[in-house]
Amino acid sequence: MYILPQLSVKCLDYDQIGHKRLAIETSNHCKGECWWCVVPRSNSPSHPIDDLMEKLDRFSGSFDSIHFMDNDLGGSPNRFFALCEQLANSPLKSMPKLGKMRVDSVSPKLIDAAVEAGFKIISLGVESFNQGILDFLSKGIFSIQIRGVLDTLLLNRIKPGINLIMFSPPETIGSLSQTLDMALKYAQLGAYLNIAERLYVSLITPRQVLERFQHITHFETIYFPGMLCPLDLPEFLIVEDADTRHVQELALARRKELEIGLLTNLDETSLSIPIRSLLLCGAISEVLGEKDLTRLTSEIVTTTLEKEKRGQIL
Ligand code: SF4
Repeated sequence: MYILPQLSVKCLDYDQIGHKRLAIETSNHCKGECWWCVVPRSNSPSHPIDDLMEKLDRFSGSFDSIHFMDNDLGGSPNRFFALCEQLANSPLKSMPKLGKMRVDSVSPKLIDAAVEAGFKIISLGVESFNQGILDFLSKGIFSIQIRGVLDTLLLNRIKPGINLIMFSPPETIGSLSQTLDMALKYAQLGAYLNIAERLYVSLITPRQVLERFQHITHFETIYFPGMLCPLDLPEFLIVEDADTRHVQELALARRKELEIGLLTNLDETSLSIPIRSLLLCGAISEVLGEKDLTRLTSEIVTTTLEKEKRGQIL
């Protein structure tokens, strides 16, 4: 188990509970095969649960929440059940906890165990509600499966954190609208959104991926005096459909305006990831001429801002 650097938290984010969070990682690998992701694929050593509990007991005193930062905390179900059982029978039961995991690692039994152990947020790599996009991203999950998991988490009063990637290369206005509708539906029910506005790549993206998508990669060129030649750094993959790309450009510009509007009443550090994600949804809705969704987004933004002001995320 690793105790991760503790961040100074000014505003509540999509995957944060409380302001003094004990961030720990029990394993950094993931069984997923998403070709664009850079997490380690192989098994890292597992620490005995007793050892982990002993460390949690020792370190948790001055914190108000426990954040398991593993990419797929439920990836080894038996280990997760053993952890939950010990947490449920310890004084740490009442301390709010957060875990991240793959959608297909979540089962009703796992949710029951998580409830008993005091988990309040489970964030998930949903990426899209459109099956074509999920397949392109090699997520290995089905859209209907995602909705089932989100519904069951909400029913059990665990807040889902929904991580999304909008505007990946095959995004169309149809797939975008589908994801927008579902994201706002779940945000209205209490889920948190964390939306990336493009599929990012970088120098640590696997080489075969950079080669395969070189023709649609946006590069940032950097040059400092003294360098032999400018350096092209891969930044993100470009949306292939021209109309959707246009929507993306307009929506990102509109989000900027909405942010500036909000910042007249807020300082920059209080613009949390869920709020920025909701503003993107609002901006896309406006560009698509979806008046009902624009109104709905604005209502959710207001509610979320009020909750964040009260320090209330759950
Ligand atoms: S499921 Fe998430 S962490 Fe795992 S490989 Fe895919 S994107 Fe990466």
